[in-house]
Amino acid sequence: MIIKHRDMPIHIKKLQCIAKRMSDFHPKKQLVDEELYKQIAGFKGEQSTDYYISYLDPPPLVLHNLRLKNGTFIFQIDTVLIYHKAIIILEIKNMIGTLELRSSYEQVIKTLNNETKAQKSFHTQVNMQKDNLERWIKREFKLKIPIIPLIIMSNPRTILKAESVELLKNVHPSSAIPFVVNDELAALSSKKYSLTQIRALANLMVASHEELDVDWFKRFDFSVSSLIKGISCPSCEQFTVKRRSTKCYCTNCSCEGFHIIEQAIEEAFMLLGEGIGNKELRKFLGDFSKQSITRIAIKANLQKTGVTKGTKYYRKNKILE
Ligand SMILES: [Zn+2]
Repeated sequence: MIIKHRDMPIHIKKLQCIAKRMSDFHPKKQLVDEELYKQIAGFKGEQSTDYYISYLDPPPLVLHNLRLKNGTFIFQIDTVLIYHKAIIILEIKNMIGTLELRSSYEQVIKTLNNETKAQKSFHTQVNMQKDNLERWIKREFKLKIPIIPLIIMSNPRTILKAESVELLKNVHPSSAIPFVVNDELAALSSKKYSLTQIRALANLMVASHEELDVDWFKRFDFSVSSLIKGISCPSCEQFTVKRRSTKCYCTNCSCEGFHIIEQAIEEAFMLLGEGIGNKELRKFLGDFSKQSITRIAIKANLQKTGVTKGTKYYRKNKILE
């Protein structure tokens, strides 16, 4: 049973929105496109394992993309599978090229197109997640349940090498998930917890989840003001939207309706944050009068604080957060 779905993370949606609003001549365009490609590949790799996870019998409680806090330290787990007697965590890697797992100096050496790069050991990464999750459950839920970490290679074209056979012990292709999970569970003789208990644990994890928010502008050192202003079409993604009063239509693909403006407002919140002023929103959407923005804000059901020049708009239900 899926308790927390694998939705596209907000930080990737935000990066997609930034990439769409960059002109081809923007000095950071290539960097942003490369990062977006990497982020989407990672997300698609995770998504591709869902098919094998759905094969699990008996079905566990499944939580995708979980980020929890231990004090000031935040840890993220791609997929958590909760069973009656154990938790299995999956660290999913979608990589191309040749990977060599090394125990000496705990590294993974990646070779692609004759270029070799070193990166942090997958084992160190997944063991830290296990350790953090153990501590979190002990502190927040007062429960001691075995946690088994697995490294899942989601791309069947990855060539995997290892310095020793031991390093491959908990590394598997995604197609092996149903068999590996059953083997791991069969080898355990630990205490069984009730469905009520594990459901309560899963619910607490969801309630404690902290969504990742990346400040891409800071990361790539440019400002939102360098992006293309205006409204893009939700269907063809072109900035070919014209408007009559609060009604919008696309001259490229004939798409029309208020949802065009709603998407643009959502993009404004993604890129500018909550509490946008009337003038700021006008500048972002381009070519709207003060009165039109006021009418649009009412129609889009936005919340607001302040009056006249001090008006700030928020997404619905965001003021009290
Ligand atoms: Zn269009």
